[in-house]
Formats: sequence, structure tokens, C-alpha cells
Amino acid sequence: MAKPNTKSHQEIGRELDLFSVHDVAPGAIFWHHKGYIIYKTLVDFLRKRLLSEGYKEINTPVMVKSDLFKKSGHWDFYHEHMFTLEVDGESYSLKPMNCPEACLVYSTRLRSYQDLPLRLADFGVLHRNELSGVLGGAFRVRQFSIDDAHHFVRPDQIEDEVHGLILLVVEFYKSLGFIPEFFLSTKPDKAMGDPKLWEEAEKDLNQALDNAKVKYGMKEKDGAFYGPKIDIHIKDSQDRDWQLATIQLDFQIPEKMQLEYIDKDGKAKRPVIVHRAILGSVERFIGILTEHYQGAFPIWLSPVQVVLLPIADRHTEHAKKIAEKLSEEGIRVEVDDRSERLQAKIREATLQKVPFLGIIGDEELKNKDLSLSVRDRNGKDYGLLNLSQFKILVKEDIDKKV
Ligand code: ZN
Repeated sequence: MAKPNTKSHQEIGRELDLFSVHDVAPGAIFWHHKGYIIYKTLVDFLRKRLLSEGYKEINTPVMVKSDLFKKSGHWDFYHEHMFTLEVDGESYSLKPMNCPEACLVYSTRLRSYQDLPLRLADFGVLHRNELSGVLGGAFRVRQFSIDDAHHFVRPDQIEDEVHGLILLVVEFYKSLGFIPEFFLSTKPDKAMGDPKLWEEAEKDLNQALDNAKVKYGMKEKDGAFYGPKIDIHIKDSQDRDWQLATIQLDFQIPEKMQLEYIDKDGKAKRPVIVHRAILGSVERFIGILTEHYQGAFPIWLSPVQVVLLPIADRHTEHAKKIAEKLSEEGIRVEVDDRSERLQAKIREATLQKVPFLGIIGDEELKNKDLSLSVRDRNGKDYGLLNLSQFKILVKEDIDKKV
């Protein structure tokens, strides 16, 4: 339950002009310009981090023949959650997950033990048929993207690979001001695959968690039937618990998709797949962040970072000059040149949760440098600053992330 006096992400999304939902597309988000800035900024931040970790980003079709999901094994236990349609007399599906197509990309080359681990990231659009009764804003949607990746690894690489992933998750969430909690889910009663492989893999996950020096709990027998997993939870500002990220081992899909690599001894062997997401559904994650910050996003995510408020018409040109200089530095800035009273403009910018407000009147015009009087959305007054002082202030705040 949300705390009293807090707003839902739907309410905030409407007030800040971030996104909307419409009856014509239940369970799908219409991203408005400002919301899409948040979306892109978040994904680009992650993407940059992944590229430096040696990930290869791919992009695969949304609509594929249902046969692919029959081959991968997803059809049997998942088809009631899939959207299928008939095209040219054949059954097609909108992909509910990226794994089978990542496997197809893997299998286009002969892979050697030296090529592994191979990390394929895919931010593609997914569809899952949630019942219309349970749809709710960005939390439960039918169309969404996951910051998805599939790591193709040798069994002897599981521990190292998962260890690296745990560190990446910790670092990523720390940069957003969250402390992730970890849970290890072990073999359920109905599990597929070689019990010895399960035992080894659980040991590897345990070891990886220990080596990363993170606290973790156990979820006994809560693993998927195709492999053990690590769940990652965070708590938001309202003390609500969210499961976001997962690191999931899979011994089954490489078997079903007949994936191979050539080992040192020249023999063909099966890789193991690690499915993993850090944010989970990007739509849901932004919904969570919106409620967590109650719309007052940290400056690096804020759609508008600075709003300039000329007091009278004669100050507008000066404000526009400052706006131009800030834009050149990649700072997202707007000028509120409506002929409203200053107090009304300050009130509007504060309601829009814009991090910095720059006021420009006769005083500011007197200075020979471009100057402005600065305050923030919390009412803190920074006084009169020249443009270069202001740029430093804004950039330092952007770099801090939280
Ligand atoms: Zn997957």
C-alpha cells in the first residue's frame, strides 16, 4: 500500500505530461515527449554500461512463427499468455520473451569454447496477454520492453559470470540510490535436467553470492523447472518491496534449441544460458521510480532540468541567450515567457518539479556576464550566479545521479 498523501504514477504521469493510456490499446503506454526523455535517458545509461562490459546488442523480430516457441518449449506452458495471429494460413506469435530468437542468433555461427561467454542484449518490444482486469498503468502492461540479455556460457564459467552480474546489479542500483537484496531460489520438486548439473549450478550461485559479499536469503524450491535463479529486490521511498532483476540459469533451452560450442577436446557441447534483466520491464521500472520520487526525478532523469523565468518581456531575450548556451552543453532547458506574474511562473515550475529555476530581471541584466538568480524546486536560494558558475552547479548535480 502507498503511504497517505502520495500520488500514483498515473496521476503524476498526467500532471507532468509523461505518458497516458487509452482504451484503444489496453495495457500499452503512450509515451509523451517528457516521459520518453526519462525512458531514453535510463536505457542509454544502462546501454553504455553494458557495452563497456562486452555485451553485444541485438534486435530481433516482434512477430515470428509460433513454431519457434514450440521448439523452444515455451508454447507448452506459456501459450495462453501469448498473442497469436494467423498470417498466410500459418500461426504467428508476438514474442513474449527474447530467448528463442537470441538462440537463433547464437546458432548462426560455429561457436568455440573461446567465444564464450557471449552476452547478447536485446531491448526489443514484448507482448504478454495479461487479463484486462489486472492491467494498471505502467505496473501491469501487455506491451513492454525488458533490459534483457542472454549470456551463453560454458558450465565452468557460471560462477564467474554470475559473480560479475551481481556486481553489475549492485553498482547500477547504487548509482540510483537503491540497495538491492538478493535471494537464491533452488531446485523445485518438478525440475528438468541432470540433477548433478543442478547441484553444481546451485553451488556456483552460492559461491558467486558469497564472493560478491552481498547478503542474501534463500527461496527454497522456488527455482524455475529449467534452472536455479537469483532474484533481486529493492525497497522504494514508501518502503514497498519490488522484485525487479533476475539472474536465471537455464539448462533446458540450449537443449531444445540444440545449441553447441566446440570444446577444447574438439567435441560439441551444450552451453548454459543465463537469462538476466537488471531493471526488468522498463515501463514498470519507470512507474516505480515515478512513485519513488513522487515526480521529483533526480536531475539527470528530469525531462526539463532548468526553467528560465524572465520577469518582464524586456528580459526574455537575455533568458533565451542563456537557454541557448545551456542547450549547447546538453542541459535540458525551457524558457517560460508567458506574460504571467513571476510568482505564478515559480509556482508552475515547482509543481512541474523542475530541479532549477533561473530568474531574470533588471538586476540580472545589469551584470556584463550572462547572469541569473537561481533557486531550486525545494526553495533553496543560490542567489545571483553568472552562467559559468550555474553550469558547474547543474553539471555536478547531473553527475551525482541521485
Ligand atoms: Zn530469456
